[in-house]
Amino acid sequence: MTQITSQRIVELIEKSKLVDARALKDRIESMRVEHGGELPEDPVEFCKAFETVGLLTRWQSEKLMQGKYKGFFLGKHKLLGHIGTGGMSAVYLAEHTVMRHRRAIKVLPKSKLGKSSYLERFRREAKAIASLNHPNVVRAYDIDNERDTHYLVMEYVEGPDLQILVKKHGPLPYAIAADYISQAALGLQHAHDLGLIHRDVKPANLLVDSHGVVKVLDMGLALFTADTDASITMEYNDKVLGTADYLAPEQALNSHNVDSRADIYGLGCTLYFLLTGHPPFPDGSIASRIAKHQQVMPKDIRKERPDCPGELEGICVKMIQKDPRFRYTSCQQVSEVLQNWLLKYRKENPHVVVKPPEGMSIDELLEVAKSRNSSTAETVSNRGAKTMGGQEKPPAIVSLSSSDSGILRTLAQGDGSSVDSHIDLVNDSNQPSIKQPKAQAIAKATDDSQSSPGKSSPLHKPMDAAAKKPGQSGPKNPAPASKSGSNKPPQSPTPQTSNRALLAIAVVIAIALFIVVLIVALR
Ligand code: ADP
Ligand code: MG
Repeated sequence: MTQITSQRIVELIEKSKLVDARALKDRIESMRVEHGGELPEDPVEFCKAFETVGLLTRWQSEKLMQGKYKGFFLGKHKLLGHIGTGGMSAVYLAEHTVMRHRRAIKVLPKSKLGKSSYLERFRREAKAIASLNHPNVVRAYDIDNERDTHYLVMEYVEGPDLQILVKKHGPLPYAIAADYISQAALGLQHAHDLGLIHRDVKPANLLVDSHGVVKVLDMGLALFTADTDASITMEYNDKVLGTADYLAPEQALNSHNVDSRADIYGLGCTLYFLLTGHPPFPDGSIASRIAKHQQVMPKDIRKERPDCPGELEGICVKMIQKDPRFRYTSCQQVSEVLQNWLLKYRKENPHVVVKPPEGMSIDELLEVAKSRNSSTAETVSNRGAKTMGGQEKPPAIVSLSSSDSGILRTLAQGDGSSVDSHIDLVNDSNQPSIKQPKAQAIAKATDDSQSSPGKSSPLHKPMDAAAKKPGQSGPKNPAPASKSGSNKPPQSPTPQTSNRALLAIAVVIAIALFIVVLIVALR
């Protein structure tokens, strides 16, 4: 197969309509001047010359090098790059061809179209986010289709999701973790107020933008509480369960019969992840992890971060109680408790910074934090912005794909004439492989938990005696889970500790009896 040529790339660009005819002509002319009347022979060099002046993105170059020229447009939007792939879709960065604003476009795989309920669920997701309007929830603008490609146009949030952020920088400074969870709680409260339960709250579904604003996304599993038509979600039960690592115990048992407190659990597990760098139960199969969510409390956060404020750990522990009645009663309450804690913490640590100062990115803020060791890590101030250099921040270049290191060359294997010219929007990156269907895992986990009676009960104990019944509203100024002044997070007694206590009492009684008998005998 012959190598794709620069001339072929020109043809593909023309056919794709990615570059305006006039701009294409001008660029080619100036390239000819630079190369003594010829086009650069190397197609990689040729594409890069278009990228540097912003006429192509790296992702578009990759596709052209593969001979693709169709599918770069969805309605009035031009696709610029691939942002991410979730459990059931691929998400792209796009630009409106006239208004030029940037949007995120979620595309439903064509392979899912055969199953009508997928399309129905996609529409329901669109309906769900379209009904929401809150600074801490990603906004939806439109749902449409181009033949059988169905897509959802959303607000584009420029920034990482919390999964990526923690993978990159490790566990977050306490104040930042508390602030992010508090913001997410407000977004979720807004959804709850409108009768919508998210049911898949996890780090990958929380984005943080360049100003440190957290946005909840992915309503793919959202359930309207008033919705009686469970058939759509029932049919694909494996997809309805949320992610094993953040799944509320009651949701694993019956995903249709949950309320807003399932989201509090998912958010609590997310806080645990932000503070430790891993989910509450990182080890074992899906089934055993789900079983642990039913039965045991995770390892103390302070075993891994001994300086973690006890009150913050206590808030997390209360959010992830097994019995929903012993969690906070609402996300509003979670947010208030965290904000109150944050206020106190910042009074005691006045240099703590939560939002990146002007001119500093989240990544830079966290880098500075890391370089200053964990406890002082939070004392990042505006000075940091200066240290980052009066250097100009580089413009946001759209190179979203991982191909900076010469993959273009590997892509340029054919001459681009014999391949399918249409870009494959859904299989643009590797889909995560699902090793075990979740429904099966749940069945096993439930069996496991039922076959070991006595294991679960102590862990379903209330956090505090004043735990309220569902539906009862929380106190106006809810106290954090651990009483102020006490640094110890509330813990439920474990079966082992109560057994040990009984044994100790028995030994003491036996010794006392022995002494009494001895005294009587001696007399
Ligand atoms: P799925 O339903 O398939 O899980 P998501 O809605 O969670 O899809 O999107 C997958 C990934 O794409 C997210 O984890 C996030 O990184 C990215 N993403 C999704 N929506 C946006 C958006 N509006 N702005 C920026 N990135 C986004
Ligand atoms: Mg997702």
